[in-house]
Amino acid sequence: MYNVQRRLCKMDTRTHGKCCFLGWNMKNIVTLALITAFFILMLSGCLKGNNREMSTSAVMMDTVINVTLYGGGDRNVLNGCIALCEKYDKIFSRTREDSELYRVNAELSQSGKAYASEELCTLIQNAVNIGDLSDGAFDITIGAVSSLWDFTATEPRLPADKNIKDALGKVSYLNVSVADNRITAKKGTMLDLGAIAKGYVADRLKDYLISNGVSHAIINLGGNVLCVGGNADGELFHIGIRKPFSQYDEISAILEIDDQSAVTSGAYERYFILDGITYHHILDPKTGYPAASDIQSVTIISKQSELGDALSTTCFVLGLDKAVKLIESMEGVYAMFIDDKGGIISSNGFEEAVNVSFR
Ligand code: ADP
Ligand code: MG
Repeated sequence: MYNVQRRLCKMDTRTHGKCCFLGWNMKNIVTLALITAFFILMLSGCLKGNNREMSTSAVMMDTVINVTLYGGGDRNVLNGCIALCEKYDKIFSRTREDSELYRVNAELSQSGKAYASEELCTLIQNAVNIGDLSDGAFDITIGAVSSLWDFTATEPRLPADKNIKDALGKVSYLNVSVADNRITAKKGTMLDLGAIAKGYVADRLKDYLISNGVSHAIINLGGNVLCVGGNADGELFHIGIRKPFSQYDEISAILEIDDQSAVTSGAYERYFILDGITYHHILDPKTGYPAASDIQSVTIISKQSELGDALSTTCFVLGLDKAVKLIESMEGVYAMFIDDKGGIISSNGFEEAVNVSFR
């Protein structure tokens, strides 16, 4: 048996401690808010009485990342993880002016054409495929609209409705094609990989850890969790799913998994409230406004974190009925939803695939 509360406390303390160590400036303090918005909290391994674990944290990719090794690897391997995150942030970030995606967006905006690296092209193509699969609920051309919103501003404001309507004219994944390292799109297209890149990076980190002899680990990129094996005692990892909008990191469910990915999307991760209305960061590509969903949070279990990441955002936008249908039409993918009344719904096979206990 384990004490959830103690483990959560320990997680928080450790994460904050490391971030301070890395140098905590004003911008990072904004990011600190994101730490409290962690929607999946790792519960496992930490207090197993095992001292073999080794961990690293950093503020990167617009969130807090943490990698904990429970079997194999050393400090160099952990440093390699941070270096990989930095490498991918410099490829996939929409906002970093020195990123490859920033350059690609600038070129697409001018001419509708851009050359890009193999990895960027691959991720864009995969994201376009999820656009097809979701009938446009998932749409990486949302960048034209998402760049108008700032969900973490100290004094948040609504974008002008006219600007949103104008930007919507540039939103359609159908305008994007990828061939021979060349991306073509409608002029003015702005790509935003925020709903899929963390999953892709988690998968690459896992490949890297395995190729460096790590057999047990948890990769947590801002709540995008990917397990390498189970924990070193041969048990499953315990992943807590945060109760939406809870102030004290209350838990709705605990999932026990190994070697799988668990990714949650929810309206409570990044949002602001204005005149009593909650505006969150998952946008409806049809309206340009936060998706009106009957889902408060959706957690996807899958082998690949990239797919889980994309599907969690997709399901949120689709709403419960369509999301359940989509997940149940796919092999090896399971979902747990918390609906707008706080009820927990899971897709067929979820409870067999994941050892779950509800709180
Ligand atoms: P988080 O990145 O906070 O874990 P998500 O994976 O759900 O959460 O991704 C949300 C991000 O994806 C937004 O911040 C935005 O960059 C982008 N996004 C928002 N709406 C959509 C959408 N409908 N399709 C694709 N990407 C989206
Ligand atoms: Mg996502």
